[in-house]
Amino acid sequence: MKNLLGGKGANLAEMAGHKDLKLPVPPGFTITTEVCTYFYDNKRQYPSTLEKQIKDALAQVEKLMGKKFGDVKNPLLMSVRSGARKSMPGMMDTVLNIGLNDETIQGLIAESGDERFAYDAYRRLVMMYADVVIEKAGGMEPAKGIGIRKIMDERLEEVKKEKGVELDTDLSADDLKKLVKEFKALTKKHLKQDFPETPWDQLMGGVGAVFASWNGKRAIEYRRIERIPDEWGTAVNVQAMVFGNMGNDSCTGVAFTRNPGNGENKFYGEYLVNAQGEDVVAGIRTPAPINQYSKNDHSKNLTTLEKFMPEQYKELDEIQQRLEKHYKDMQDIEFTIEKGKLYMLQCRVGKRNGVSAVKMAADMYKEGMIDAETAILRVNPNQLVELLLPMFDPDIEKTHKVIAKGLPAGPGGAVGRVVFSSEDAVEWASKGEKVILVREETSPEDVDGMHKSEAILTTKGGMTSHAALVARGWGKCCIVGCSEISIHDKEKYFVTKDGKKIKEGDWVSLNGSKGTVYEGSLPLIDVDLNKNQSYKQLMTLVDKYKTMGVRTNADTPKDVEQATYFGAEGVGLFRTEHMFYGEGSDKPLFLLRKMIMSDTEQERKSALNELFTFVKRDIKATLEVMKGNPVTIRLLDPPLHEFVPHDKAKLQELSKELGVSMSILNRRILALHENNPMLGHRGVRLGVSYPEITEMQVRAIFEAAGELQKEGVKAFPEIMIPVTCGRHELSHQKAIVDKVYDETLEKLGVKKIPYLYGTMIEIPRAALKADSMAMVADFFSFGTNDLTQMSFGFSRDDIGGFLPKYLDLKLLPGDPFVSIDQSGVGELIKIGVERGRKTKPNLKVGICGEHGGDAESVKFCHSIGMNYVSCSPFRVPIARLAAAQAAI
Ligand code: ADP
Ligand code: MG
Ligand code: MG
Repeated sequence: MKNLLGGKGANLAEMAGHKDLKLPVPPGFTITTEVCTYFYDNKRQYPSTLEKQIKDALAQVEKLMGKKFGDVKNPLLMSVRSGARKSMPGMMDTVLNIGLNDETIQGLIAESGDERFAYDAYRRLVMMYADVVIEKAGGMEPAKGIGIRKIMDERLEEVKKEKGVELDTDLSADDLKKLVKEFKALTKKHLKQDFPETPWDQLMGGVGAVFASWNGKRAIEYRRIERIPDEWGTAVNVQAMVFGNMGNDSCTGVAFTRNPGNGENKFYGEYLVNAQGEDVVAGIRTPAPINQYSKNDHSKNLTTLEKFMPEQYKELDEIQQRLEKHYKDMQDIEFTIEKGKLYMLQCRVGKRNGVSAVKMAADMYKEGMIDAETAILRVNPNQLVELLLPMFDPDIEKTHKVIAKGLPAGPGGAVGRVVFSSEDAVEWASKGEKVILVREETSPEDVDGMHKSEAILTTKGGMTSHAALVARGWGKCCIVGCSEISIHDKEKYFVTKDGKKIKEGDWVSLNGSKGTVYEGSLPLIDVDLNKNQSYKQLMTLVDKYKTMGVRTNADTPKDVEQATYFGAEGVGLFRTEHMFYGEGSDKPLFLLRKMIMSDTEQERKSALNELFTFVKRDIKATLEVMKGNPVTIRLLDPPLHEFVPHDKAKLQELSKELGVSMSILNRRILALHENNPMLGHRGVRLGVSYPEITEMQVRAIFEAAGELQKEGVKAFPEIMIPVTCGRHELSHQKAIVDKVYDETLEKLGVKKIPYLYGTMIEIPRAALKADSMAMVADFFSFGTNDLTQMSFGFSRDDIGGFLPKYLDLKLLPGDPFVSIDQSGVGELIKIGVERGRKTKPNLKVGICGEHGGDAESVKFCHSIGMNYVSCSPFRVPIARLAAAQAAI
């Protein structure tokens, strides 16, 4: 019932009530997401029945707990916790210890016999209430940018200094009692409001704050990044408090049923003795490991929970196993032990990085916990990118000195320039700088900057800290708890333990898999995927389920080989013009220019003849690597003017070669000039104006394939005509193909060269005229880059000027060049497929735009019956997984 109760509420109810679980959960109740929706639909008013229902539910909790809310003798304290459908870690606020005031505290002291504990709970309540309810939910701008929380935190630090103690827990009851008074005064001074003494007001204030925080800045930001709809709303969980801060036989902790960093099937977690709430996550003290396995460099000398409280650890371990079995997935759990009694406070499906996601899916399938379909659906295709994450070249890394070491919270290597605030990260990144965000700790306010950074480095916090959690969710390189460095964020530098000063803008390199930091920028290399057994096992399942082919867009034998290694089953787009762009010899480019600048057919033919050798060699090499798998070769596409030389030396060389004067040459260049080249003389139009260009390319293709055939190598080229908008263009080019085909058979003395003839569909008209186009074409390949460009009338190269505004104002749900605009451009594609197949039922249909590597677009392609998608080599695994998920 996550939609109604939110994730936290649903799981709390399930842990407490499900017959297989019946776990020790403090009693409580959930105010549903419907109330949140009502609240926002009705000018922030509650439904009229709410108050009574809360009072009734509260009475039941009182009965179960044997305490009374607001009672001066035996007071019940409550927590107010938010909980949306999808977990938004740290995004929403929680208020603990609700129900305390100057009177009820006497009851708490008497009941617990521990004055220090009682005042610790009280000062926390005042702090959280002022921060969360009065300041944040009240929409107050903190004075001079310093929030009340920080003011109070600083005061707390001062008092600790005055008292000469290091830890919060070392403060006496009297110290805390004074702090409560001071905090109330600070609230009044800075926020111009009194801390409410009435428990009921506190409770309703807390409830209102949770609803308000749904529309707080950080929650909105997080939703935008994670694409969580604004309409969902949040639930509010009101729950009886249990206390992890009731002395040294109490503690609080966070754990995972498997290691979220590497996927190993080992119970992993951290805890803090005599602590409450978010002390673990906030990194106030270094948390201790729950067991031997969870130890790290910082915590290796701390006592494990297993040693410290063996019985409770055993119970917790047993519970975590039951939870994983019940939910059939890795769980992230929160627990508290109050005076030796264990309570479960939360469980949810744990976030994990890509490497772990793949390992857990493969392992759980092997363990028989989940079936193949579930295993395939468990991994977000985009997470596979992390398995391909670049790492530092180990040989080079060895020779560099580690300047600092922290906890490896997010894997992979990252290189960037140091910045010290989220705002700077955003600003620098917008200028195209690669940045590494360095902070003592991160808070939900930093998400934007974290998102824009290559990596995050924090000095405080453990593997369950905010930074670690968020980075893990995004698959970002992250190192936390790097306490060896000290940050001077006002002066914008940090100092390593050897005294090295690293200033803002300096380059550093982070190895997030090892937790090591280096000065300067280390070179990154790619990893060997096939050494990853879990990946191989998962992809074997993937290939069993997917029905669509996955090809690659590649122009060189090297890229094609790379793509085959990633599992590509063919080439969906080989661009002949590739050989003219840099790389290797510039002879082909020179010959092409010579051809362009030729004035007569005679001149042009002789230039083309020279060029032929190069084109054939390139095509042959690629066909050879593909060993009979289809290779779609697109004939020359770009406007000729793109290849016109502009520097004088090159022009002079040309003028000499062609034997024409510079002024004639310049006149020819002028003639080639176009106002709108992308809609100008390009694609099939070149082949229509200059049939000899088509002829040369087609001859190169047939001869390459025919020769391979004679050498005993299978070859299967598919000739693809770009930028067509009707049947007649296709027929015109087909005549050339037919003629060259016959000539080649004769020349090589072979009976047959298998091939297909087809076209790109990238102009809206072509999609609409697909029925007649299919009379001539054996296949269609949707060129969705151009199709998107021409459907929207958005120039892809100029979109930077206006798209960000469109996205901000939500005039578009996303960048249509990244994920297919299904309702618009997608409709054209659908029409194209349907009409094409009406004419030719076995028409082969694929896609070769950038979208072929976008998981959502791949699923769309599957749904409309495409035969294959084609994408860049590194996206091939993503497309395979997405194709399998679409088929399930
Ligand atoms: P988040 O969604 O940020 O994880 P939670 O609602 O889980 O927020 O609250 C944060 C922390 O507060 C919990 O991890 C837990 O330690 C503490 N907490 C919440 N409710 C209770 C409770 N009823 N008793 C004791 N501690 C609680
Ligand atoms: Mg929580
Ligand atoms: Mg195109």
